[in-house]
Amino acid sequence: MYRSHTCGQLRLADTGTSVTLAGWVQTVRKFGSITFIDLRDRYGITQLLFNEELNGKLDEQPLGREFVLQAKGVVNERSKKNANIPTGEIEILVSDFAILNKSAVPPFTIQDDTDGGDDLRMKYRYLDLRRNAVKRNLELRYAVNRAARNYLHENGFMDIETPFLIKSTPEGARDFVVPSRMNAGQFYALPQSPQTFKQLLMVSGYDRYYQIVKCFRDEDLRADRQPEFTQIDCEMAFVEQEDILNMFEGLVRSIFKEVKGIDYSDTIHRMTWEDAMYTYGNDKPDIRFDMKIANLKVPITVFVSRQEELKSSAFGSGETGFAVFDNAETVLAIAVPGASEYTRKQIDELTEWVKRPQIGMQGLVNIRYNADGTLKSSVDKFFNADQLKGIANYTNAQPGDLILILAGREEKTRKATSDLRLLMGTRLGFRKDNEFRLLWVLDFPLFEYAEEDNRWVARHHPFTSPKPDQIATMINNNPVIENAADYLNHPYATIKANAYDMVLNGNEIGGGSIRIYQRELQEKMFAALGMDAEEQQHKFGFLLGAFEYGAPPHGGIAFGFDRLCSILGGSESIRDFIAFPKNNSGRDVMLDAPSAIDAKQFDELQIKLDLK
Ligand code: ASP
Repeated sequence: MYRSHTCGQLRLADTGTSVTLAGWVQTVRKFGSITFIDLRDRYGITQLLFNEELNGKLDEQPLGREFVLQAKGVVNERSKKNANIPTGEIEILVSDFAILNKSAVPPFTIQDDTDGGDDLRMKYRYLDLRRNAVKRNLELRYAVNRAARNYLHENGFMDIETPFLIKSTPEGARDFVVPSRMNAGQFYALPQSPQTFKQLLMVSGYDRYYQIVKCFRDEDLRADRQPEFTQIDCEMAFVEQEDILNMFEGLVRSIFKEVKGIDYSDTIHRMTWEDAMYTYGNDKPDIRFDMKIANLKVPITVFVSRQEELKSSAFGSGETGFAVFDNAETVLAIAVPGASEYTRKQIDELTEWVKRPQIGMQGLVNIRYNADGTLKSSVDKFFNADQLKGIANYTNAQPGDLILILAGREEKTRKATSDLRLLMGTRLGFRKDNEFRLLWVLDFPLFEYAEEDNRWVARHHPFTSPKPDQIATMINNNPVIENAADYLNHPYATIKANAYDMVLNGNEIGGGSIRIYQRELQEKMFAALGMDAEEQQHKFGFLLGAFEYGAPPHGGIAFGFDRLCSILGGSESIRDFIAFPKNNSGRDVMLDAPSAIDAKQFDELQIKLDLK
């Protein structure tokens, strides 16, 4: 028997018990003729006390950090207690010990505040994983996993595995491909998600499916994305959107309860995509704080329902005499609460911030709405006091606020204003890690315009159904975009989908849709995306075929498991919640992968490498 207890188990009540512990040496502290060792395992740390007699033995076999040690002894009450750890009232009076394995000196300290940099920790991830901070993250991940499984099981969902070696049908992201030895010259793809399989399972009658599953996307790794990531993937048959929203609100509430002990009983707010874009400038608004965006000028046509309202906005479609505003497609403002006393320097710094290439704006207009009700702006030359007041009213500013205004091309300006809002929210302390606000964003556009090919692509994926009352718009209009500059006036730009995202604190944590389940409509959808009959058959013949054999109405959702864990754990980084993550260039620095393969492997695959 290697051990009778773990290093996190023993308490004062165990005093006098003979025990055997095994673990890693965290620290060795020698005091004259006695030595204290902190022994660590997954469960905690226990102090070992080596007396004079054993000290001699320790001198013969010196212990280093991370040695694997077995110690036998008796539990003893400590004279100097440590209230910070659960085992802090006891120690083990060691009577015998054995070194089970030695350790090289670790390249960084195995402590919460380690001296190891990111790269080093990733290279030695198996040591990094010994650290408490990382371990806690993996424990949280497992707790989320368990909570999800329990909830889904209780609700009749069945976990069904789907294949990883599938057919390449890229739509949106790029596929990772795997050469086939037995079918030389042919390739499998790794699934970007089990989307079509879960739909086939609905056709097969498994009306509640789930899987906690790896997905693979060969995308450029923008901020904190992983080429392989995990989804809680779900699908249900005989459901409408409302059924899905209810079921998965339940899932998220239950995860909050189990994992964080939070009873999230508030109504989960719902917002249309249009409202989200219009009032927050992005489709995953952080609603922990208000600071809504005011549209000072009539914006582009996608905000169909807003055109009328805006005619009476601050400037309407009229001229202001200020060329920056008059020449801009969009003028957007936020009123930052209580920031009217921002110094010149602080405002200059914000101006530099919006001019950074990532944000790409030309400048930042500000209006201080002083506490005494007077207004002072960086555009006093162009606007009189009444006009400034008008803008202030339109942005819902209060005395004491600082109004920030951006002007320029629609999309860029909206994104920049959204980023600025988040920045100010963070600076003013409105975005607290321990406050959680869930939101459904509904009614996404069915299509998105792909500039490079001047065509429509599916905003969610090609299996998403249009809103029933807009099916005719899709079917009766030619998808071809005659005039690229005017694509927003194409009828397709206004078609909305039965698609929804769940948003938590400004992050999309899940997304899904009600699916198309009739062959004819699916064919029309593929055609709208520019796929001719032959290509449809080649790529998705299996799905179209299945839809001929009694496909039930169905829909589903997938949650980004890594992201959900990182938010619940109060961290920006999903990597912290993945045991063996890849770095920003998609590399596993521990394995040194990807890497070249040897000539024999190429031979077996009948592939000759000829890099361009
Ligand atoms: N398969 C979709 C995705 O990965 C989610 C869904 O529609 O259920 O985004």
